[in-house]
Amino acid sequence: MSTSPVQQYLQHLHDKYARMEDGVVATYIPELGRANPHQFGIAIATVDGQVYEVGDSHAPFTIQSISKPLVYGLALEVAGLRQVLARVGVEPSGEAFNSISLDPRTGRPLNPMINAGAIATTSLVPGDSPLARRQRLLQLFSEFAGHDLDLDEAVYLSERETGHRNRAIAHLLRNSSILTGDPEEPLDLYFQQCSVAVSARDLAVMAATLANGGVNPLTQRRVLQPHNTGRVLSVMTSCGMYDYAGEWIYNVGMPAKSGVAGGLLAVLPGQIGVGIFSPPLDPKGNSVRGIRVCTDLSHDFGLHLFNTPRVVTPALKAVQTGAEVRSKRLRHRHEIDLLRRHGQTIRIYQLRGRLIFASLEPVLRSVLQQSTQATHVVLDLARVADLDRASCRLLLDLIAQLGRQGIRTHLTGAGDKTTLHDYVAERLDAEGWRRLSEPSELTEALESCENDVLKRHVSAPVHLGEVPLAEQELCRGLTPGELYDLGCRLTPVELPAGIAVLSAGSPADDMYFLTHGEVGIFLQTNESNEQLISRLGPGMGFGEVALVDREPRSATVRSLVPIRALRLAFSDFDQLADAGLGHLQAKLFANLASVLAGRLRSANAEIRSLR
Ligand code: GLN
Repeated sequence: MSTSPVQQYLQHLHDKYARMEDGVVATYIPELGRANPHQFGIAIATVDGQVYEVGDSHAPFTIQSISKPLVYGLALEVAGLRQVLARVGVEPSGEAFNSISLDPRTGRPLNPMINAGAIATTSLVPGDSPLARRQRLLQLFSEFAGHDLDLDEAVYLSERETGHRNRAIAHLLRNSSILTGDPEEPLDLYFQQCSVAVSARDLAVMAATLANGGVNPLTQRRVLQPHNTGRVLSVMTSCGMYDYAGEWIYNVGMPAKSGVAGGLLAVLPGQIGVGIFSPPLDPKGNSVRGIRVCTDLSHDFGLHLFNTPRVVTPALKAVQTGAEVRSKRLRHRHEIDLLRRHGQTIRIYQLRGRLIFASLEPVLRSVLQQSTQATHVVLDLARVADLDRASCRLLLDLIAQLGRQGIRTHLTGAGDKTTLHDYVAERLDAEGWRRLSEPSELTEALESCENDVLKRHVSAPVHLGEVPLAEQELCRGLTPGELYDLGCRLTPVELPAGIAVLSAGSPADDMYFLTHGEVGIFLQTNESNEQLISRLGPGMGFGEVALVDREPRSATVRSLVPIRALRLAFSDFDQLADAGLGHLQAKLFANLASVLAGRLRSANAEIRSLR
């Protein structure tokens, strides 16, 4: 396979910094001093699960402080915001990772990214025993990475033996009751969480999980709730790089977290996750190559959070009116004419993609601008991938506003939008929601709008009555004599609901004039599924297309209610000329041509309005 430009670029970055000699490997945890300073791996993972990697991207090292934001996320999930904020704040300390930055009054650590705050956070990890809590942490890290992770026991024991400063911090936290019980317990768990072995690739996937709103893009499993993911990214932004945080966000502009083993994890929310491993550190404890690589990446790929133009795809796919598109009901020509003349008061808005404030706001504007000419509005969400609560609120407020203007609104294609359902449950009663969301399909909602519009112009729906031969669409312009001659050749049929009058694939030798009731035209979409593509009422013909080409039936026609129809055998039609009725045959053909032309025109209009 040919090499992606992304891969080539990563290789170039790796070559560029591989021979760099700056920085020193951390030795205050003796076991870390054994790291090979030349090891260097880079990985980036996209929110759709593509991973690019170069160098020692699979080499294991301990996660160290990069565990802190992940455990902070877990604490938020299990203990809730209030409990977490009671133990640790969210203010940057501007001090080193091992600083003893505690609020002088409450003893509360300033933020969860310094060791003091992290130990306080770790004390919130749930579990009945030390072993259970360790398992819970491993499970968390494994879910973030998308595969099972384990401890590097040597590093863990080494830090447990020598971590006197962290031990002192834990006791200070106990002194101010931020920790309760034996401080050695959360301390020990903290040492364990720092010793989980990961690779640069793992960090990239973990970062991509944070970029992806808390869902691991490889496994598709949710690890954190979206609002907690946002909180984690916030503290990473302000405190992730300790006393380098300000410069980092200024130059690189990605929430990030570093660890003393040489790991660096950076997130561009909504886009990518970055993982880097290179043990030599600068005096602030951040990986020297890690910082260089991220700075270049951010600059060359335009990844700075505050320089990235927000990509907002317009949510409005198409605006159509009831004069251009019609429901699947094939209507009598009177009704079609009426809809062509009055249908523009029905406005259909097809939305698509992700609805967020910025993509939805222009839709609100155009709906309201055009609302003075509207009597009915259909908002179709069938192509909307997802929507946030802000959009739910704006949609419902829009509908309420339209209601005050006397406009009836239908919301279609909303069946699978769970955020909307949850939101609606808080705001509307069941009846209100039913009125809004039923019928749930665009074509049915449209049909009901059409009926409303027609109601204002005709006294009875055509499909309820009995439409005699003279008023059949295909019989326009026939003289009484011609109607008589045609009538002599027709056989009345009467069928209950649910009968396949014509079956797709079968040979065609007749056609029908529907005089009463309603039939549906069904297309086979696969072995076991049929789709209703249109409905016809009295006054319309069916099976008539084969009169032109004599090909087998292309669709199945089934009675939707009890029907009455008049059957014309093609053999009788063919004999009309010999019987001296060539003029009748010609008129029927001409009418058929004009009906087919009309259908082609409206199909074209529909395609055009979709552009
Ligand atoms: N385990 C290390 C410590 O507590 C983590 C520090 C870090 O990675 N910055 O000192």
